[in-house]
Amino acid sequence: MDKPIHLWLDELSTQEAAQAAADGTVIIFPIGSVEEHGAHLPLCTDSILSEYIAVEVAKKTGCLLVPAFRHDICNAGYNFPGTISIEFDTLYMVARDVMSELVRNGFNRIIVLTGHAGSSHMTALKIAAQKIIRKQANIEAKRKTRIMVLSDYDFADELSEQLEFPKGDGHAGAIETSRVMAIRPDLVKGKGKTCYPNFPRFEVVPDPERYFPCGVMGDPTAASEDKGKKMNAYIIEQVAKLVEELKKD
Ligand SMILES: [Zn+2]
Repeated sequence: MDKPIHLWLDELSTQEAAQAAADGTVIIFPIGSVEEHGAHLPLCTDSILSEYIAVEVAKKTGCLLVPAFRHDICNAGYNFPGTISIEFDTLYMVARDVMSELVRNGFNRIIVLTGHAGSSHMTALKIAAQKIIRKQANIEAKRKTRIMVLSDYDFADELSEQLEFPKGDGHAGAIETSRVMAIRPDLVKGKGKTCYPNFPRFEVVPDPERYFPCGVMGDPTAASEDKGKKMNAYIIEQVAKLVEELKKD
């Protein structure tokens, strides 16, 4: 019988994990959310997108995945039913501890891949990575620790114009809707509503949904499964290149 291929770190035995670390295996840490995504997409949108990309990249490159963390810092969609937002410090500490434990186990090539790309959420992840990197910088190691922090959106935005997605697309818009249609069409409920919210430029408000009544930023009616497949394939290809880059020294 062929040896089964494991994608998730916690499917390995302790001996296999030690071997994977000794082999310099790259680890992806997928981050998602439980967050409103309009009336047409599920709360798990960010989670299933980043996990799908991570799984496909692992199949392609032989990297491993540490179990996903499906929570984010949610601001604009905070008051919508179903949103479970965590505090900045909580996300920072979870990300810092998971990365620190990976490094302690000998996995010192890490990609944090998040499906949610809010600015405070990205900052918490980046500060956590910086904490680990600075600590490791003073330690004599054969291979220096390297960590990348990115969201699916970093690559989605690169292809958006070529695939003729509407300008100003964002949360639960045409890109996210297309991408979910391509992987979990059973979770898409209709076409969604077009909405281009206009949040106050400087004021921090307790009721952002006032400016964002349908919980969408963009035009999800322009979504298509075909474009979603192309977008997902592009992101997989780009993240796989990052894994290859981390395999080198
Ligand atoms: Zn999203």
